[in-house]
Amino acid sequence: MQNVLVDETKLHDFVVDIFRAAGSSEDEAALIAQHLVTSNLRGHDSHGVGSIPVYIRNLKCGDLLANQTLTRVSETNSFLICDGNGGYGQVMAYDAVAIGITKARQSGVALVGLRNSHHVGRIGHWAEQCAEAGLVSIHFVNVVSDPSVAPFGGVAARVGTNPFSVGIPRDGKRPVILDFATSKLAVGKVRVAMNQGKPLPAGALLTAAGEPTTDPSILFGQPKGILLPFGDHKGWGLSFACELLGAALTGGKTQSGPKRRNATINCMLSILISPERLGTADTLSPEIDTFVGWVRSGDNAGVLLPGDVEATTTAERHANGIPIDAKSWSDIVAAAREVGAEPPSSILEPAIQSKARSAP
Ligand code: NAD
Repeated sequence: MQNVLVDETKLHDFVVDIFRAAGSSEDEAALIAQHLVTSNLRGHDSHGVGSIPVYIRNLKCGDLLANQTLTRVSETNSFLICDGNGGYGQVMAYDAVAIGITKARQSGVALVGLRNSHHVGRIGHWAEQCAEAGLVSIHFVNVVSDPSVAPFGGVAARVGTNPFSVGIPRDGKRPVILDFATSKLAVGKVRVAMNQGKPLPAGALLTAAGEPTTDPSILFGQPKGILLPFGDHKGWGLSFACELLGAALTGGKTQSGPKRRNATINCMLSILISPERLGTADTLSPEIDTFVGWVRSGDNAGVLLPGDVEATTTAERHANGIPIDAKSWSDIVAAAREVGAEPPSSILEPAIQSKARSAP
């Protein structure tokens, strides 16, 4: 099978078909498809449709549950602690953040603790949901699965890739969206590199024996390799904060406890802030504009802001289609067939390679 270049609408409809066939309600399938395809559009293929085979595998062995609803554990006008019951994170986080948006609009600030959700995907998606509602947001997330990242100064994996995100809306401009894993590479990016047959950048991965390696398959071998935190002690410190705030504070589980076999469980602490209710909405955007102008002054014209790379990739992929490597595509099609969904023949046309931008 060759690399493919897929139109976003056809891809979205195919993903809806897959999750509907796998037992999800129409609404659930639509939210999952919207999240996965948007991740591909933003250039984060690690959290896009390439996740489908893992989700279907987890669903089939009972590590992921379809059609769950949030359990509201404790709540006031300004906070919510809720349990995602192991359901699709694309639905659990969407619903939790939507409740937070209502509370932040009423109270000025809202805190939402979502615990025990299956994989909530690209965290910037949740910052974008808040920014679209005019809200600033901060998200601390932990990951409970087979640990993949060593603490700074350690040689054994003890945490996941614990992501962090901040979103800040701007008047008449796209929001600032900072969104990254606290490891040098997200696990999904290592999977994409392996599927593409590409080496990893040096300094991101160790073998189980502690030797540096650029071979992505080492992370998925037995014994498995170990990712390193970004920024040495600083990335480790932020990862540690994600573990404590995302999980311990929300009543969720940290990586130290038992795992649910193959599941990737996320806990997320989100803080939502309404500049309007704070009385700072009128000055926030102009001050950001002034600051950006200062940052990019002189020889700094090419400096990128958080979210710029994703915006450029989104524009390209809107125009040209979403590139998917051959291995990932064949795994997606195999997973679809397992649940009884078939890709429409038009989607299976191989990419015109000269048009395809190589996937990151
Ligand atoms: P990354 O290394 O690509 O960093 C992305 C961030 O850096 C973005 O804010 C981007 O705008 C900014 N950026 C990139 N290049 C830049 C440049 N040249 N100048 C300025 N800013 C720049 O991201 P990542 O660590 O690979 O994470 C990928 C995705 O994986 C994220 O969406 C993250 O939320 C997700 N993730 C999810 C989980 C989970 O368990 N749900 C775990 C880890 C990561």
